[in-house]
Amino acid sequence: MTVYSFIFYLTFAFQKFIIMYRTHTNGELRLNNVNEQVTLCGWVQKAREMGAMTFVDIRDRYGITQLVFDEEHTKIAKSLGREDVIQITGKVIERESKNKNIPTGEIEIIVEKFTLLNKSKTPPFTIEDKTDGGEELRMQYRYLDLRRNPIRKNLELRHKLSIEVRKYLDAIDFLEIETPYLIKSTPEGARDFVVPSRMNPGQFYALPQSPQTFKQLLMVSGYDRYYQIVRCFRDEDLRADRQPEFTQIDCEMAFVEQEDILNTFEGMMDYLFKKVKNIELKQFPRMSYADAMKNYGCDKPDIRFGMTFNYIDAITKNKGFNVFDSAETVIAIVAEDCASFTRKQLDALTDYVKRPQVGAKGLVYLRCNEDGTYKSSVDKFYNEPDLKTWAEKCNAKAGDLMLVLSGDLAATQKQMNDLRLHLANELGLRNPNEYAPLWVYDFPLLEWDEESGRYHAMHHPFTSPKTEDLHLLETDPGKVRANAYDLVLNGTEIGGGSIRIHDRAVQSRMFDLLGFTKEEAQAQFGFLLNAFEYGAPPHGGIALGFDRLCALFGGQETIRDFIAFPKNNNGRDVMIDAPATIDKKQLDELFIDVKEL
Ligand code: ASP
Repeated sequence: MTVYSFIFYLTFAFQKFIIMYRTHTNGELRLNNVNEQVTLCGWVQKAREMGAMTFVDIRDRYGITQLVFDEEHTKIAKSLGREDVIQITGKVIERESKNKNIPTGEIEIIVEKFTLLNKSKTPPFTIEDKTDGGEELRMQYRYLDLRRNPIRKNLELRHKLSIEVRKYLDAIDFLEIETPYLIKSTPEGARDFVVPSRMNPGQFYALPQSPQTFKQLLMVSGYDRYYQIVRCFRDEDLRADRQPEFTQIDCEMAFVEQEDILNTFEGMMDYLFKKVKNIELKQFPRMSYADAMKNYGCDKPDIRFGMTFNYIDAITKNKGFNVFDSAETVIAIVAEDCASFTRKQLDALTDYVKRPQVGAKGLVYLRCNEDGTYKSSVDKFYNEPDLKTWAEKCNAKAGDLMLVLSGDLAATQKQMNDLRLHLANELGLRNPNEYAPLWVYDFPLLEWDEESGRYHAMHHPFTSPKTEDLHLLETDPGKVRANAYDLVLNGTEIGGGSIRIHDRAVQSRMFDLLGFTKEEAQAQFGFLLNAFEYGAPPHGGIALGFDRLCALFGGQETIRDFIAFPKNNNGRDVMIDAPATIDKKQLDELFIDVKEL
């Protein structure tokens, strides 16, 4: 031990000695501690009287320990209320009636000394795994909600995931580099949150929707493996389960091709699942966007179950059924062993697809009965041999049910995707303990926006077109595919990225295509275009939604309970009551003139 480390040790030991609030946590004591004198601190979970004794459960983030207040101290115990903060000293004894449900359930503490550290008001809801508090109330008193086990476990999982992400990336030479929060807007498709600059009257910073341009600049600077677990901000209309500020695992690599990135992050997912959940991911398929759309009608298919699409136009048209005849496409899925669905169940499915959110006009079914006969809702137009060909074409066997939708291609694919997922939910096919990741790649570079009457970048304007499609860029831009990919898990997109453009001329062509004038492109992205002239290496990257990843690892749908202080559906923090108005004086300093609303 060096002199310095000895001094450090002494200081630490001394500090520990003088501020010995507690000798153990409330999750720590076991039978082998029996007879020890201990001091514990924590919150009163509950108290029960039994004869002359009072039992009090004391809680901290590590667990619960049972305290016994004997006759002499029971008066104190009776004065305790839920969530009071207390300190006790006493002796550990073996419990007579053991509680197998908690790790400290074999012991209890006979209280000898007691200190009330702080009194608590009665909490507005119970601090228990199943609380009686409603969503809004829990958000308002989030600091109390955070005391509950389910939320604490979520935050512990989040912590563990972030540590493991860092370990994995660090081991393969990624550097964590912070990029600024006060920047100029980056066009990621959403609105920016803006921050007025007092020192630059009339000018605004934007909060980053992602560190996209900065991470690309870091590649130009030679930091060929960058990552950051970083907050991003998007001022979107909040759909359910979106947060205006959220966290991404943001990464970029230089001198790589798409395959290198897919392998690196597939490796990360394998590592995280093994480390955090002790699960070996069995397979990690790759699927082109075109195949995903054709077989699942969506770009983030849930592949935990089958029910892929069958296109049965050729065998269903020209039989006098006008609905199919006039449709651009006819798509069928097979629900295994569902021929026994009742009329009521089929009606419910029809009602489902007719809901405005789904938008189908109707649903055709075909029961492949166990006895080899067929029964469909369109028997008038199709005889048994016809229906048999449907079943054969779709590999439906006796006992299966076929469901058929028709109409315009894109609309029918979307409706069938909705129906497929709905049915899978009903049939319990989406097992939350099964994890089926995949890559979807070769996304279109551009998508047409009706409202503005021009093309938008599907991913973002820095995504490179596939070399073999470059010739279509000016003639048929909608057909150009991008070097872009998404990481999908159980039907949820958890990440996306692309190989970027690193050539100034191609980047300029891209801005042209997106409707930027030369001057606009220069004003907004001059820094990037200039940087591309100083030896920009080929590069690409990805960003994974960290909140969503946490929720998926926690086997839950909503990200909100994996964020310590989330916002509600209206983008409000109801605990601190933000956003809020600011003083006239502050507004004046910022040269902002707020009109009366
Ligand atoms: N910046 C992109 C996003 O936030 C991800 C990427 O292309 O790396 O979605």
